[in-house]
Amino acid sequence: MKKILAVLLAVFMVFAVCACTDNTVENNNGEVVDNDVQNTPDDTADDDKIVMATNAYFQPYEYYEGDKIVGIDAEIAAAIAEKLGKTLEISDMQFDSIITAVQEGSVDFGMAGMTVNEERLESVDFTISYANGVQAIIVKEGSPIETVDDLYEEGVSYNVGVQLGTTGDTYSTDDFGDERVRRYSNGNEAVLALLGDSIDCVIIDNEPAKALVAANEGLKILETAYADEDYAICVAKGNTELLDQLNAAIVELTADGTIDTIIGKYIQ
Ligand code: GLN
Repeated sequence: MKKILAVLLAVFMVFAVCACTDNTVENNNGEVVDNDVQNTPDDTADDDKIVMATNAYFQPYEYYEGDKIVGIDAEIAAAIAEKLGKTLEISDMQFDSIITAVQEGSVDFGMAGMTVNEERLESVDFTISYANGVQAIIVKEGSPIETVDDLYEEGVSYNVGVQLGTTGDTYSTDDFGDERVRRYSNGNEAVLALLGDSIDCVIIDNEPAKALVAANEGLKILETAYADEDYAICVAKGNTELLDQLNAAIVELTADGTIDTIIGKYIQ
């Protein structure tokens, strides 16, 4: 039995070594490089894929199910990619890195429940809008903050938690001043700070707010909203070719009901 095992092991090792040597090759500089990498027609591969930047902590637009990023944006992007004859690749990053990644060209487009506004239009171009958003306010049950107006009262010093670089961040910084705004890398961290009483409310988009309130006890969303917004996809400034393709795909996917169906799957 031991002999058989030893033989099997030896055979396996020979195969393993063969597999390794098969994949390596000496390049012109005498260095051993990975044959697979060298021989892969990278350009063709790049032409076939389209890379979306997002921040996958924004349920139901983009979030992890196991190690897969799912959600409204992920599905709409996949439908767009299919129309363009490309494979969608999703690159997960901090929300406030998305616009830079798009500008630098390390990704093709940004899609992250991203609101179109004047400030961002100075750095990137946006497609037509594919969904609407609302900035909502989450408080602890029993909070003295009852409506959005309470945040603007003379003499109050409520601290507002936001996700770094979002419109919730920029608008509340403008409205309440930098010293009253606490910035977190995602909504979940902001909600933990609210539960731990380091802040008095969280300003974040309505649908992620609903998911956060459902996942944590003792929280509620105020009936009065903070701001209404339009979500769109951003591309590098002047990339009209891609912008036109994305817009055409959004128009078609709106007309045939695909976008409504996807949104309806996640938002009832
Ligand atoms: N809609 C908000 C914005 O664009 C938040 C987006 C997000 O956190 N993913 O700033």
